[in-house]
Amino acid sequence: MRAAVLYKRREPMVVQEVELPAPGPGEVSIKLGASGVCHSDYAHWSRDTWSELPMVLGHEGAGVVESVGPGVTKVKPGDHVIIAFGNKCGECYFCLRGQPYLCTPGPDAPAALRGRKIRAGSESVWQFLGVGSFAERTVVPAVNVVPIAKEIPLAAASLVACGVSTGFGAVTKAAKVEAGASVVVIGTGGVGLNVIQSAALVGASRIIAVDLLDNKLELARQFGATHTINGKTQDVVAEVRKLTGGFGADYSFEVIGLPVTIAQAYEVIRRGGTAVVVGVATEDAEVKFNAAGLMRTAKILMGTQAGNIQPQVDFPKIVDLYVAGKLKLDELISRRFALDEVNEAFRALHAGEVARGVIVY
Ligand code: ZN
Ligand code: ZN
Repeated sequence: MRAAVLYKRREPMVVQEVELPAPGPGEVSIKLGASGVCHSDYAHWSRDTWSELPMVLGHEGAGVVESVGPGVTKVKPGDHVIIAFGNKCGECYFCLRGQPYLCTPGPDAPAALRGRKIRAGSESVWQFLGVGSFAERTVVPAVNVVPIAKEIPLAAASLVACGVSTGFGAVTKAAKVEAGASVVVIGTGGVGLNVIQSAALVGASRIIAVDLLDNKLELARQFGATHTINGKTQDVVAEVRKLTGGFGADYSFEVIGLPVTIAQAYEVIRRGGTAVVVGVATEDAEVKFNAAGLMRTAKILMGTQAGNIQPQVDFPKIVDLYVAGKLKLDELISRRFALDEVNEAFRALHAGEVARGVIVY
């Protein structure tokens, strides 16, 4: 099969033939229908991170089951699935208490759970986050696939694996935003738009989108933002206060991963408000805030990993909301790419030209 292999960070990925092993016990082989191109893929391309090279990036995948390994009864060939990234073991302390997003298989966990390797000629190649969806096929543990109806377009379904579920979960599971609340969303890329449309879904009354690009703020309005602030030309904290009776917002979401915008998210909430950090920061980034102020204002500063989502429970709900016309998925896809255009997809993402680019197979 063909896959896009990253040999050196910040250099173009190489689309080439690779060998994918047959599914082992408990595993499923999937022919990918589509893969979203996420900022986390881009981060592992552009930054020196924990991931090892060479590697096939891509972790927002949906496709069709081709074959199953021994012992798999959950799905059969022909079933359509969304792939949950990050290898949720289903057995550890966190998985058992309903927090699979914190799943940490220890060193004794089966190797399959720590990620897997495929072959490219004489080299072993990692599949990013256990998925590696910038490829025509992948093999994943059956515990990580979520079956969906065959009528759901796979391009739309692929986005549920990360961008949509992260935004949806940040609002509904991490912050638990209530109807009538005021919400600030800092960063209106693929995940930010999903924070916005999920806030609209739960009935937030004021949804204030903050970004530096006017074209993204316009898109934010289409997804439910009631107000927009251009952080380049406007004072974000002052504008939010003006829009929220002088107090600040009930909730804020930082969807970029920069210390300056995380501090801003903390700043724009009212006393007792909640600031949620969704964005992926660099490993060495640190945020400063006034310690006495945290006590006095009783603010809540919260992190969320992948929107605190339980894929097996929440992916089907998100798909149902899409079918019911309550969550926009097709509208998120601003461009479709062939696998050969994967490097162009990264360029378009970085340039802020797309809400979501999707590789279709
Ligand atoms: Zn686990
Ligand atoms: Zn992602």
